[in-house]
Amino acid sequence: MAAADDPDRVATGPLNAGTTRAELRDAAAGVANLVRAVGAEELVFAGLNGPAFPVLLFGAALAGVPLVPVNYRLSAQALAGLLDRTERPLVVADEDFAGVFAGSGHDVITTADMLHKARTAGPGGGPGASEDDPAVLLFTSGTTAEPKAAVLRHRHLVNYILQTVEFGAADPHDATLVSVPPYHVAGVGSLLSNLYAGRRIVHLSSFTPQSWLRLVREERITSAMVVPTMLARLTEHLDGRSAEVPSLRSLAYGGARMPPTVLEAALRAFPDTGFTNAYGLTETSSTIALLGPDDHRAALSSDDPAVRARLHSAGLMVPGVEARIASFDGTALSPGHSGELWVRGPQVSGEYKGAESPRDEDGWFRTRDLAHFDSAGYLFIEGRADDTIIRGGENIAPAEVEDALLRHDAVREAAVVGLADQEWGERIAAFVVVHEGTEVDGETLRDWVRARLRGSKTPDLIVFRDELPYTPTGKLLRRELVRVAAFERNEA
Ligand code: AMP
Repeated sequence: MAAADDPDRVATGPLNAGTTRAELRDAAAGVANLVRAVGAEELVFAGLNGPAFPVLLFGAALAGVPLVPVNYRLSAQALAGLLDRTERPLVVADEDFAGVFAGSGHDVITTADMLHKARTAGPGGGPGASEDDPAVLLFTSGTTAEPKAAVLRHRHLVNYILQTVEFGAADPHDATLVSVPPYHVAGVGSLLSNLYAGRRIVHLSSFTPQSWLRLVREERITSAMVVPTMLARLTEHLDGRSAEVPSLRSLAYGGARMPPTVLEAALRAFPDTGFTNAYGLTETSSTIALLGPDDHRAALSSDDPAVRARLHSAGLMVPGVEARIASFDGTALSPGHSGELWVRGPQVSGEYKGAESPRDEDGWFRTRDLAHFDSAGYLFIEGRADDTIIRGGENIAPAEVEDALLRHDAVREAAVVGLADQEWGERIAAFVVVHEGTEVDGETLRDWVRARLRGSKTPDLIVFRDELPYTPTGKLLRRELVRVAAFERNEA
């Protein structure tokens, strides 16, 4: 549709040297030809986000096979494990990662070769995918278990786009900056929604605050999406200064919970930019709830505590997605009560390749996030149910303790986990990174939390660290911290 509407408009890359929509369409047809020629049943991509990703995503669709973007940062062994679970793959890998696949016995081609061949392969025919065919397989991060391949079919992605984006709604000069990797659902979602809206897509493959700000200014970026760790690095880099990015009208964040202190600093650093919180999962084809710029402004300017609290909510469910909060035995709970979030709708897949689906017989998908709705339907995400600490029979959400720690001037990052304990069931361990040049001791931080929360929510153990482990999409690797803390305790 985009190519038919305005074939010569730049779809991806810089204005003077990007790929036009017609070029994207033709290169995708070339990819489809190559996929068919080798008889591949899945197209694996191990590469950075950039101009190749859209070509491969649409090429796979035209060939009627799923695209399987994999995390190029994984070890050779882990990547081999993922490849073992694909069927007759054609592997496209950036030059830097191609060596890992040599000797894998699969067809491997570098991204540059693939693009060159695709652009010269000429247009190809073929039926393309049907709406029930898998469009992408996305491996979950596998931090707690073996990675699972979430299956998103064309109908899931199409429904997501049709419900949330208006075709061609963007201004002709609009450009978006994408700095999430292709193997995360936000990479897929941002590509589809921006192309459909008519926004030029600029990729930043390796995020630093400096390069992000430079690109926003140089490319006159009007919208961007970041994960919380990126926003934290941006505000830290700006250190109280304004970002000075006059073109940036809208900044979306999501992929993990946003610490309130980071959001507050970001609102000060980007005073003229509208903020959007996007909440979703891989299994729900990305965004299912949104807190838009007007909601942010209303919350900031309200005297009503209930409206102010919405600044830290995930907003309202997007059209077409039903939600309910249920207790652990599945009983539905009313607004204001916390429980597990279940969702249902045409964009919700909740299907894994070769594994059982966590959907019930009525199609409800269990997100495993703890959440509640307020009386106006705003969704508040409290964290993963699996991360809840149960100390002496009391349920404690790590986020609440982390947020209290982050309010201390010396604390830059905080992560709270439960440690198995004979007496209490679990004890609370807090990992803390302090701001450079600052000092604080554990007892002071414990007193700080005790003064703000109940005594039972005070960390039993405070561990200082130079950095915390995150995935590239900003998710804290809590399990890794649990292992470290248990080890340190045994050593002690
Ligand atoms: P993934 O499928 O890897 O994208 O992970 C999805 C999980 O990330 C969700 O279940 C949430 O726990 C978390 N998440 C994603 N977006 C948000 C958000 N905007 N606010 C809070 N948590 C989020």
